[in-house]
Order: sequence, then C-alpha cells, then structure tokens
Amino acid sequence: MAGAIFVDRDGVICENRDDYVKSWEEFRFIPGAAEALAALTTSGLRLFVVTNQSAISRGIVTRDAIDDMHARMLDVLRAAGARVEAVLVCPHSPEDSCACRKPSEGLLLDAAKQYGVELAESWMIGDAESDVVAGKRAGCETVLVLTGRGATQARSARWLDGKPDLVAHDLVDAAIWVLARVAERTRAMMEVIRP
Ligand SMILES: [Mg+2]
Ligand SMILES: [Zn+2]
Repeated sequence: MAGAIFVDRDGVICENRDDYVKSWEEFRFIPGAAEALAALTTSGLRLFVVTNQSAISRGIVTRDAIDDMHARMLDVLRAAGARVEAVLVCPHSPEDSCACRKPSEGLLLDAAKQYGVELAESWMIGDAESDVVAGKRAGCETVLVLTGRGATQARSARWLDGKPDLVAHDLVDAAIWVLARVAERTRAMMEVIRP
C-alpha cells in the first residue's frame, strides 16, 4: 500500500506555545506521542510530519532553527522506534497567501508527487480544523485529536468542509484507530484475492 500517515506537529506531537515553539529547549513531547508514532511505523505506511510554521515568515525564528529542532525531534523519535520520512514545513504566514499553509492541501499534494504517496489511502491527524480540512481536500481520512487546541476546536469549529472521520483523545488513540483501519483494508484486499 502506498498510503501515508500525515501528522501535525504542534498540539499533536509536542505541546503548543502561545509564543511559538522557537527552539529545542522549548520543545515538549506530548506524553505517548513518540510511542504512538512508533506503533504507526509498524504499519509499514510512511509517516510525514506536516506543520505550519508562520513564525519563520514573521521573523520570530529562522528556518535553520526550525530545521535543527526537527533534526533533534527525529533523533528522539528514531530512538523510540518511530521512523518519520520527512518533516514538511509551510514557513509562510496567512498574509503570504501560499498554497501550502493548512487548511490548504499543498504540502500533502507535494508529498504525493515527491514521495509517491497515494492520498486516497492516507490519513491526516491534527488538533485543528485546518488540519482536517487540508486532509479532506487532499482526499485523506482525517482524525482530530483532543490534545493541543483540539478540545477547543471540537467545540468551536463550524466544520463547513465536513467533520473528521474520527475524534481521538490523543495520538495514541488515533494510532490505534488508524492501525485498525489499515487491518480492515488489508482484509478487504485479501478477500478480493481469495474470496
Ligand atoms: Mg496543531
Ligand atoms: Zn506556505
């Protein structure tokens, strides 16, 4: 299967900060997130982190600092058994009107092209309506987690583009569900081969 699992960073893998996560010193893993990504790694689907980082465009943090943070994040995740293929970053602010800032689906479309991902067999997991909208626009199944901004978003978002396929307590719950969906799809595929 050429699907992938796209995971938002802030509020899903690490704690949000009102003043942006600007350095590795400010990066705090959400409990269970690394283990959940390790579990998802066992699915054989490729993992991508997909993150809006407008602090770059706003001049609050440099692209180098963000890249350094992500290299360290991936080191910790690798040690936990989680293999993330790439961290896809939108460095723009809303005023830049780019095609990659979620809720736009540009980062997912780029990944499809660059890494050969089948978006219709993929998942997008995030803590904001914008993550769910980006996932839906790209044709993925979507999960809203209630960590980060998720609990507030679940109450206040209007979901004009449709609700998430699942609302999960956190990335651990989301991983359990996605792994079950993968198993369902595998079984359906096998039944076609051997009815
Ligand atoms: Mg987020
Ligand atoms: Zn962008």
